[in-house]
Amino acid sequence: MSTRINYTHYPFSATQRDFPGLFVEKPSILVSTSSELRARLLNMLKGVLDGGEISMESTLDPEESVLFYYALLDVLKSIGDSRVVSRVALAYSKTASKYLSEEKGELLVLLANKLGLNAGYETSDYPRIPRVLSGLGRVSVKMVSYQYSLPINQYLELVSKRLLHDPTYSLVNYFIWSGRVYVDRSTFIRILEEHIYNTIINHVAQAEPPEAVDYSSLIEEVRSIVSKYYEKIAAKPRVVEGESKSPYLPGGGLVLIEDLFPPCMKKVVEALKTGGNPSHVERFNLAAFLGQIGLGADEVLDYFRNTPDFNEKIARYQVEHILGLRGGRKKYMPYGCEKLKSIGICPITEQCKGGKNPLAVYKYNLREYFKKRGEEEKEA
Ligand code: SF4
Repeated sequence: MSTRINYTHYPFSATQRDFPGLFVEKPSILVSTSSELRARLLNMLKGVLDGGEISMESTLDPEESVLFYYALLDVLKSIGDSRVVSRVALAYSKTASKYLSEEKGELLVLLANKLGLNAGYETSDYPRIPRVLSGLGRVSVKMVSYQYSLPINQYLELVSKRLLHDPTYSLVNYFIWSGRVYVDRSTFIRILEEHIYNTIINHVAQAEPPEAVDYSSLIEEVRSIVSKYYEKIAAKPRVVEGESKSPYLPGGGLVLIEDLFPPCMKKVVEALKTGGNPSHVERFNLAAFLGQIGLGADEVLDYFRNTPDFNEKIARYQVEHILGLRGGRKKYMPYGCEKLKSIGICPITEQCKGGKNPLAVYKYNLREYFKKRGEEEKEA
């Protein structure tokens, strides 16, 4: 382990000043159809779309890794598909996160600072404090050191998007001193991963593909890779209401009518359909809600296939766990409305009719729907 940044692993932290020559070479990757580098760049992109990770086989040294990264920014900017941009940013940030867990504290902070954070690292022997950790019904106590720090505003900005609903990142879990938040190593790495993701999204937005270079053939190739990826992940048709005359299906479970979902669940479904990236807590609650309606693991997984960080193996394991098909065989319920409101997932201020949790509200909506439909059919 060293305190020099390894740009093979973290190419997004390199600047033109670090590798001035590479930016002159970049157009050659983009233009030449016979270039071996170009073929490897396209393979890397396929790997990102299919597997959600950057394969280190595709980039063997720092120069190449940085060259690929900056060429990819131009390509992504030209394609202009935010879902693909998000998947690429997630792949880089997740892959980087694996390496970060092996790095010294000084390197983590050096990288964070190079990426624009005002991070600090206390090397003195900081007190270790017991911390209660909980997740999926398990609670444990761990001794942790709070050696890493960030200004409060940077910390809040970083956790305010995808980590907002996860209580792990609540300020009450950390020390605040002199305008800075002190966090443990694993939290710092997770926050840094989030910052890397945001940085890459910004890099794509700011990319300026060279105007004098005609790389339309590369763009076409990338478009074809992207459209094959979309064909592959296209969600299967959802179970629909069919001929049912009641909310309950003969074989058990409830009829599925997404329009009747309560606003909290509709919001997550909508985000998933439009390429959004709901938080883990939102995904957990939607999976639990769909499982309680009676959907099987495959049908629940179909809802998540379009997420930028979708990984079939991991998602299936998690969904099967939530549906009670693994481990302790406990089938989880979505949180109650009170909790969903307290963590900012409920999008309305009032309470939905029909109950105090999304499942009860959905059942109520279904009953009302079938009652109304029965009355209309009678009148007709
Ligand atoms: S009140 Fe409950 S069911 Fe309705 S949107 Fe809010 S959390 Fe969902």
